[in-house]
Amino acid sequence: MSDFSFTIEHTDGASRAGVFTTPHGRVDTPAFMAVGTLATVKALDPDDLRAMGAQMILGNAYHLHLRPGDETIRDLGGLHAFMAWDGPVLTDSGGFQVFSLEGLRTVSEDGVEFRSHLDGSLRAFSPESVMRIERNLGADVIMQFDHVIPGQSDEPTARDASERSLRWLARCAAEVGRWEPGGSGAEQALFPIVQGGIHESLRRAAARSIRDSGDWIGYGIGGLSVGEAKPEMYRILGVVDSELPRDRPRYLMGVGFPEDLVEGVRRGVDLFDCVAPTRMGRNGAAFTRDGRLNIKRAEFRLDKRPLDEDCDCSACRRFARAYIRHLFMADEILGLRLLSLHNVHFLVRLMRDARTAIRDGTSDAWSRDWLARYQSRPVTSE
Ligand SMILES: [Zn+2]
Repeated sequence: MSDFSFTIEHTDGASRAGVFTTPHGRVDTPAFMAVGTLATVKALDPDDLRAMGAQMILGNAYHLHLRPGDETIRDLGGLHAFMAWDGPVLTDSGGFQVFSLEGLRTVSEDGVEFRSHLDGSLRAFSPESVMRIERNLGADVIMQFDHVIPGQSDEPTARDASERSLRWLARCAAEVGRWEPGGSGAEQALFPIVQGGIHESLRRAAARSIRDSGDWIGYGIGGLSVGEAKPEMYRILGVVDSELPRDRPRYLMGVGFPEDLVEGVRRGVDLFDCVAPTRMGRNGAAFTRDGRLNIKRAEFRLDKRPLDEDCDCSACRRFARAYIRHLFMADEILGLRLLSLHNVHFLVRLMRDARTAIRDGTSDAWSRDWLARYQSRPVTSE
């Protein structure tokens, strides 16, 4: 018996409301997963995440391998114990990070050589070594090591990377298959990643090849929101939705703008993650139902309203825009914390609302109304 299961409770069009069960608890889907790259969701305490209803969070294999070291985390009891988060955790493989180091890497069939962004030391990742890193970290869901390319890559480049990712998936699965059952405690689920850029035929081929190669617990959709136009991303999501098994969770990697979550749910996506809410929060940008606002603007100097009048996060329940603006202008760290908290809460709540609409059978109207309101006001930042 697997420690993992996925139950779809309601469908509405292509949208699904489900429950993904892991060894560390359940995740009600669709869900936004907050990103704790370095074993911390920046500026937030695990208690903050629990209070807002976040159920699953991320760590990053590349960053944690470099610092403090995956073996150190293993010796301290694994990622859950290390960061005092007893709920479900997913680790990204580091493929995105390694391939983002433009000019600092050599790709071969065996793997990738790159220089650490911390000290310039030469490092190597292979599918097998990344699996061992993710095993040491001990997350519930571990992502395969894949070859990530820029969003607008041409067909030959995308085909080469996608086919290499499929070969690397087989090596990841073989490495995981060699592990002794229960050797490091709880079971871990290896998710494959569908690549193929913006090329429909490559996406179909990758999805079919992965689907036919094993009985996967869930599926990652990678290589989107990396520079391609949004309509391209939505088109590819529709293609992948039609090719993946309906009874397994689909995780759209690194996509976390509110409009993209709503559009993704409309196309059968169950899980999302992104650094956007915390990164933007540290830069002074807040999500609201009427679009994004930049709290540093002078117009908020005397504004007594909360960031979003419909938001029930602990920042909006207590503080005015004018106060948070003051914190930013004075470089007070509470300002970064409050906007990070609000933005993550906003996305967690957004997916909870989407789930309710799917259960009520009103998700089409709900998502259209939501998008119309969100896009009705010009974006005032970034
Ligand atoms: Zn709020």
